[in-house]
Amino acid sequence: MERIFNFSAGPATLPLEVLELARDELVNWRGCGMSVMEMSHRGKEYMSIQAEAEADLRELMGIPANYKVLFLQGGASSQFAMVPMNLLRGKASADYLNTGEWSKKAIKEAKKYGQVNVVASSEDKNFSYAPTQDAWTLDSNAAYVHYTSNETIGGVEIFWTPKTGDVPLVADMSSHILSRPIDVAKYGLIYFGAQKNVGPAGLTIVIVRDDLLGQTVKGTPTMFDYTIHVDNDSMYNTPPTYAIYIAGLVFKMLKAKGGLAAMEIANRAKAQLLYDALDASSFFASPVARENRSLMNIPFTLKDAALDDEFLKAAKARGMVQLKGHRSVGGMRASIYNAMPITGVQTLVDLMKDFEKQHG
Ligand SMILES: *Cc1c(COP(=O)(O)O)cnc(C)c1O
Repeated sequence: MERIFNFSAGPATLPLEVLELARDELVNWRGCGMSVMEMSHRGKEYMSIQAEAEADLRELMGIPANYKVLFLQGGASSQFAMVPMNLLRGKASADYLNTGEWSKKAIKEAKKYGQVNVVASSEDKNFSYAPTQDAWTLDSNAAYVHYTSNETIGGVEIFWTPKTGDVPLVADMSSHILSRPIDVAKYGLIYFGAQKNVGPAGLTIVIVRDDLLGQTVKGTPTMFDYTIHVDNDSMYNTPPTYAIYIAGLVFKMLKAKGGLAAMEIANRAKAQLLYDALDASSFFASPVARENRSLMNIPFTLKDAALDDEFLKAAKARGMVQLKGHRSVGGMRASIYNAMPITGVQTLVDLMKDFEKQHG
């Protein structure tokens, strides 16, 4: 069977060459007589897989030596709690930017552990933009500043790095990690679930500056303490071994393709193809402010929402699935992560043109 174009926001499409390599290695990894899934996480074969995945991620992202890389579970959603538990460090409050559904969840969870100061919000315009920093009210006594650099549901991406002085900057990069270069040194902590742009669900990666560690709030469960995972090389308990292995294959492939600068060029070309089609159309429209248009998640609406189902059916007939928008935004959403080929975006744009001719 042909592969289809899967525009899902996550779990999302993976690079075909990675899936094929994993298939070839599935039952017998490099002559060791077993699958990666069957390996002891303390054996030398698996330990080499995890060490190589970390080394490749460090190289890809240019992660400085004073940052730890943790391979965890529990999704980005667990980080909504782990961040305040570990980073409040005796301070009363933390600053949060509110740009959409994921920001709201992070804020709600953080309120269980301390005071949350919302520095700015775009809820007034249904989260269709991100407030620029001149509109933020930062607190210099805050333990950290948290923001969602790409809102997966609203399709709102922040392309600049907030300036927070001595207050550590924390980012949920779940849905645009590895899509373009990031200056890690400007952050105190970066976290992301793997299932958008990295690998299978079940793996969550945290990159944290080492001076922020060691002051976890009293009563924090062992598994929620970053220090425990740092001290045990992410092997305090059984890590999600197979997901880490696949992520490692993705990192290798990205390196071979020219790294994140090359991904940014490819991702900009893909996104532009779709945004140009939206701008040229009087039938389809993007609800997102131009300067915040995500390169990864592109929501768009049809002039007549009654035609949504017909559009989805027509897409399916041309081998495209998972284009239905999130209920909070409506319409469509095309998630075009690293692994979505430009031919997938072109196929979507061709359909949009034909559909508009027919119904516009
Ligand atoms: C998907 C997503 C999450 C939630 O991830 P889980 O792994 O399901 O917990 C959080 N933040 C952002 C920005 C996301 O895209």
